[in-house]
Amino acid sequence: MNIVVQKFGGTSVRNLECQRQVMQKVLRPYREGNKVIVVLSAMSGETNRLLALADEWSDTPDAAEVDSMVSTGEQVSCALFAMLLKQQGVKARSVLGFQAPIQTDCAHGKARIVSIDETKLVDMLKEYDILVVAGFQGCGDDMRITTLGRGGSDTSAVALAAAIDADVCEIYTDVPGVFTTDPNMCSDARKMDRVAYDEMLEMASMGAKVLQIRSVEFAKKYNVTVHVRSTFTDELGTIVTKEDETMEAVLVSGIAYDKDQAQITLVHVQDKPGVSAQIFSPLAEEQVLVDMIVQSPSKDGKTDMTFTIPRADMKQTIKTLEKLQYEIGFEELNSNPNVSKVSIIGVGMRNHSGVAARAFQALADENVNILMISTSEIKVTCLIDDKYTELAVRTLHKAFHLEDGEPL
Ligand code: ADP
Ligand code: ASP
Ligand code: MG
Repeated sequence: MNIVVQKFGGTSVRNLECQRQVMQKVLRPYREGNKVIVVLSAMSGETNRLLALADEWSDTPDAAEVDSMVSTGEQVSCALFAMLLKQQGVKARSVLGFQAPIQTDCAHGKARIVSIDETKLVDMLKEYDILVVAGFQGCGDDMRITTLGRGGSDTSAVALAAAIDADVCEIYTDVPGVFTTDPNMCSDARKMDRVAYDEMLEMASMGAKVLQIRSVEFAKKYNVTVHVRSTFTDELGTIVTKEDETMEAVLVSGIAYDKDQAQITLVHVQDKPGVSAQIFSPLAEEQVLVDMIVQSPSKDGKTDMTFTIPRADMKQTIKTLEKLQYEIGFEELNSNPNVSKVSIIGVGMRNHSGVAARAFQALADENVNILMISTSEIKVTCLIDDKYTELAVRTLHKAFHLEDGEPL
């Protein structure tokens, strides 16, 4: 049996009219004789609405109960969509995470998929032609519902595609593919025909929310080709796939930004062995993702330690570190929630120098001050004041001529 995997995001399933359009996409492979696994997100805005309820009810909402509640968004959209299909006479049913089953660890709110036993799904497909699987949710080995983090339905879809060994996982969304930067921020953004897994990984981890990072990790690990395309048009989208030489010819492929960042500085930390571990181990235990870290040169045995974290973790981070002030031995903690990261990404950077310098010059020409810098083989990231995010994205997009797509 040939199985096609398709995923539709929140805006694609937001109301009856959109779900009817989704149905046309789903019925196409079905009519060609394929079985279809459709992964759906919650209707747009629903996950936010549910999370806000939890915050209203409790200052410290219980993570397992939050998952139990927030996962209902996907349950609703899947059941509704299955109703539409049945009305068309299609043998279809909704499938929740625990029914698939999508087995995860027990890290509520940011659970990771551990395994998917495809035999159950394949059995269900003997009876049904279309399975409508709830994205974003799974089941811990304590039989409690878990969720996979924001944007997690992408990961559900790619993991399912990997489990049943599908060649392609189609991710349908509200834009026609992966662009050189967010098309909703920069009108010059250009759709890419193909993008390498590693580039997509960097773009996703640097804020391009078109695909969740974990979904790209899965795709790369299990060699699943991902086709990102529009729910609302028929044009071909972007293929996320293995790198080849033509991709290396392009110096910079894309610009990503992440506005949900905060900067923390510990002033006059004692400069002694073990101090970094004292600072970052407790944050790691709380699953705070620390990203850019800069330690200033030591003076009189003291140094300043500056780093970035997701803005949502700022309060908790301050609380944790202030409790340890005496042990770590810093004089002051400064925090800045108004920063954002802007990154230039491209596998072609591996073999070229001068990319970072060109980016810094372009930002300098626009008077954008760079607060911190970090680099990897295929990425340069600048931390800036968040009010300059749009300007910085557009400036860098132009500086690397991304709008015309010619290799530099
Ligand atoms: P869905 O609900 O379908 O999962 P998301 O909102 O999670 O959709 O992701 C799609 C959005 O990602 C787009 O509307 C766009 O604003 C944003 N985005 C950010 N960077 C990019 C990029 N480089 N290419 C395409 N979209 C991007
Ligand atoms: N509904 C979840 C979210 O809004 C998961 C997803 O849409 O992928 O993050
Ligand atoms: Mg998404």
